[in-house]
Amino acid sequence: MKPFFGGNWKMQKLPDEVGEYFSKLQEQLKGTKDNYQAVVFASFPLIPSCIEQNKGSASVTVGAQNCHWEMSGTFTGEVSPELLKALGASAVIVGHSERRKYFSESDETCEKKLKAVLSCGLTALLCCGETWDERESGQAEAVVRRQLEVALAGVSSLNPGEKLVVAYEPVWAISAGPGSKSKPAENSDIEQMHQLVSDILVELELNETTRVIYGASVNPDNIAGIMAIKNVDGVLPGAASLDAEKFAQIILRGSTAFYDNL
Ligand code: PEP
Repeated sequence: MKPFFGGNWKMQKLPDEVGEYFSKLQEQLKGTKDNYQAVVFASFPLIPSCIEQNKGSASVTVGAQNCHWEMSGTFTGEVSPELLKALGASAVIVGHSERRKYFSESDETCEKKLKAVLSCGLTALLCCGETWDERESGQAEAVVRRQLEVALAGVSSLNPGEKLVVAYEPVWAISAGPGSKSKPAENSDIEQMHQLVSDILVELELNETTRVIYGASVNPDNIAGIMAIKNVDGVLPGAASLDAEKFAQIILRGSTAFYDNL
């Protein structure tokens, strides 16, 4: 399977930044082999122009940062996976820690959203990860286990194949955001938690094709070391993905390290 690189723009770009971003990204990735999958996760209104500006790119697609779990209905202000698919989005993030913290996203809503995304044929990128308080009180593993067991219940029967990706993101190591300590995780912490996620995916019969990626303060300087960690199949940078050149370096250095460490 190919490594997966997601760039999470969050709520940080305006329409006039899109054209330059994708032309720089394409320039940096020109001539690269089709040996990775990369997705730029943009705010909803930017998705059509991102897709337009990304035309011609084989390995980069455009995704959304959230969606509703119903395909249509009386849900004012919400966006359905069916609409995202119709617009040409390829993937949706489910359960990012900022959505859990600020918008009361629960494991139960993650489960519904994940199934809706997969049933549309889109890639579902499920985020899990503990807060600093949860880590300090020895609950990191239990929290991640609960998040995955609830959100992924029954998902194996949908045969998601490579359309399911799980991101482990220790909330305290994300560069800015709720509960951030701005304290990078040690590689040994990442290895231990990725082993746990892989073990849980085995128990849920989802291990064969699910990529497990890492997110929290990933940048061009630390990407090679992170990709060398066992069971790391890609990354989900936030801040670094806002700069097309940095995101391209993460993709290029990250895929080289991924294949070197196979
Ligand atoms: C994130 O919020 O998913 C994230 C990983 O952000 P950053 O790379 O900025 O730490």
